[in-house]
Formats: sequence, C-alpha cells, structure tokens
Amino acid sequence: MGTVNKVKVGVIGVGHLGQHHVKHFANLPNAQLMGVFDSSAQRKTEIANLYKTNSYNSLKEILDACDAISIVTPTPEHAKVAELCINNGKHVFIEKPITKTVEEADHLLSLTKENGIVIQVGHIERLNPALLALKDYELRPKFIEVQRLAPYTVRGTEVPVVLDLMIHDIDIILSLVNSPVKNIRASGVSIMTNSVDIANARVRFENGTVANLTSSRIAQNKVRKLKFFQRDMYVTIDFLQGLTEVYRAMDSDTKVSNTMVTAPLESNGGHRSIVYEKPTIKKTDALRLELTNFIESVQGKAKPIVDGRAGRDALEVAAKIQKMIIEDVH
Ligand code: NAD
Repeated sequence: MGTVNKVKVGVIGVGHLGQHHVKHFANLPNAQLMGVFDSSAQRKTEIANLYKTNSYNSLKEILDACDAISIVTPTPEHAKVAELCINNGKHVFIEKPITKTVEEADHLLSLTKENGIVIQVGHIERLNPALLALKDYELRPKFIEVQRLAPYTVRGTEVPVVLDLMIHDIDIILSLVNSPVKNIRASGVSIMTNSVDIANARVRFENGTVANLTSSRIAQNKVRKLKFFQRDMYVTIDFLQGLTEVYRAMDSDTKVSNTMVTAPLESNGGHRSIVYEKPTIKKTDALRLELTNFIESVQGKAKPIVDGRAGRDALEVAAKIQKMIIEDVH
C-alpha cells in the first residue's frame, strides 16, 4: 500500500508504554508514523531518534501533522490532551483508564457524538490471546473470581490501584456479563502510598451474576488470573501465562476434539462426563492487535473492540468501587 491510504498517526507521551505504541505504529502496514510529542524534551528526542521519526515542538505541531493520535500520558493528563485532539478533529486512542473521572469521560464522549471521531481505549487484556481463545464458547458466567497482583513500582501510583489494575478486570467482566450492575461492595487499604494499594470488590449484576475482584500493587510476584463458573462449565484463564482451560459437563457420547475426559460426572453409570479442554492460544502481540484495530477503525474497516463508551463504563464502576473503599476506610 502506498502512503496515500495510510493513517497518519502520532504518539503523545512516550514513557514506559508510549514507546511501544511508537514501535508498533512504525511497523503497521496501514499506519504512517508521523512523530512523537512528550513534555520531557529529552525523552521525546530519545524516542524519536530510536524510531527514526519526528520529535515535535508542541501539541499544535503534532496535531497538524496527524489524523490520529495515541495518548499515553499519565492518566490525570488524558482528559485535557484528548479534548484538544478531538477539538482538532483527530481520532484518539487513549490508554486506560480513559480519564481520571467519569465527568471527564462523559465530556469526551459528548464531543465525539456526531462528528464520527473514533475514541478507543487501551483495555489491552480484552485482546489477550488467552481471552480471545474463548470466542467460540457460549459464555454466561454466574460467578467470576479475579486476581490481579503486581510487585510495587512507582509508575501507576498517581491513581489508586482500582483505576490502575482493577479497571482491566472490571472492563473484562462488563464485557462477559450482559447485564447492568445491581450493587457493589468494596473495601481496601493503603500500604505503601497515600492512596488505595489493595482492593477487593464484589459486583452483583441484575441477572444474578456475582464477580469477586482482588487487586494489589504490593505483591511478591505478578498474578493475573480469572476464573468463572456457569451452568455445566468452569473456565480458568491465566492472562500472564497465556493459558486457558475449560472443564465442561457433557453427554459421554458427545464427539469432541482436542479434549481429554477427566472424570465421570455421575455415580451409578450416568451418561455425563467432565471434559477438559485447552483451547488453542494464538501467539499474538495484544498491543499490536489493539493498535491495528484502532488504525482499521479510523479507516472505517473495523469498530474499536474497546470503544470510548466501554472505557467510560469501566471507569464508572471503578469510581464507585473507589468511593466505597474511601467511605469504608473513614
Ligand atoms: P510514564 O510515566 O512512563 O510515561 C508518561 C510519559 O508522558 C512521560 O514520558 C511524561 O514525560 C509524558 N507526559 C506527561 N504529561 C504529558 C503531557 N501533558 N503531554 C505530553 N507528554 C506528557 O507512564 P506509563 O507507565 O507509560 O503510563 C502512561 C499511561 O498508560 C497511563 O494512563 C497508564 O495508566 C497507561 N498504562 C496502560 C497499561 C496497559 O496495560 N494498557 C500499562 C501501563 C500503563
């Protein structure tokens, strides 16, 4: 493809994660990487040199050069940078969480309501191959148990753990459970920072589904595991290892491939068995997939897998959890 049909894209905020956005845009066939901007002159020069692209002197310069922008600044900066991009007619990919407050997210959504501007949000776990491996199953979870633990790092601590880590899982459960949230119970503690470092929430949906989420940024090792249970089925996903395992109750004579019968379900010679399956996991880079989805959405060839609305809805639940934790502590 010539450069004519390519989406001209730039990255604002090229710290720890932003540099990976730059790396992928430099290689995506439908994207033309125009350059980077960062409030640190040293950092933007370093990254521009590394990927042989432009380092712009101002937000205005990068916006003038691009059709689409990835915003990878710290979360408190998302709203004002995104507003500027949208007001200048630029499509935006905003790293998660979409903004710091629901009001800011609503404002951004209202700005794009009728002008066809794409807002996509970087809830990358939705493109984790371990979750995508379940696409052929009919999922109707009744009970979900999620754990996301990480060793302490300063990055991300500008927001509470609910907005940094738990929001990944909130977005996943909202995508798995097709029902409004009925109520939430939550508690948490501050250990290393002045905000909440460890959080637990129980989210009950109108359809009766319950999700229990635990997130901590003070852990010895990383853990990112989600288990769910539904009628005749138990699924366990390890997002870190890229491993998905499914146990299903089936009629013993059902023909299944790539499976292993583990145990009879009923005593006295019943007809059902518990079948163990390990869906094939495609080895794909979730960030590349996510940014490809963004570029194709800008081109009108796809829709964002996580759009601005989904980002806003995850933030709303996260904000309720955070508020409840603060009220519980005081
Ligand atoms: P970082 O601190 O490493 O990088 C942020 C960069 O933005 C820095 O280089 C800083 O100089 C620059 N910056 C700050 N304010 C700016 C502004 N107003 N304009 C331009 N540049 C500005 O942070 P990070 O870890 O890369 O996180 C960035 C964002 O990505 C956060 O919103 C975070 O929540 C998100 N994130 C998402 C994931 C994920 O799994 N999807 C993982 C890590 C971080």
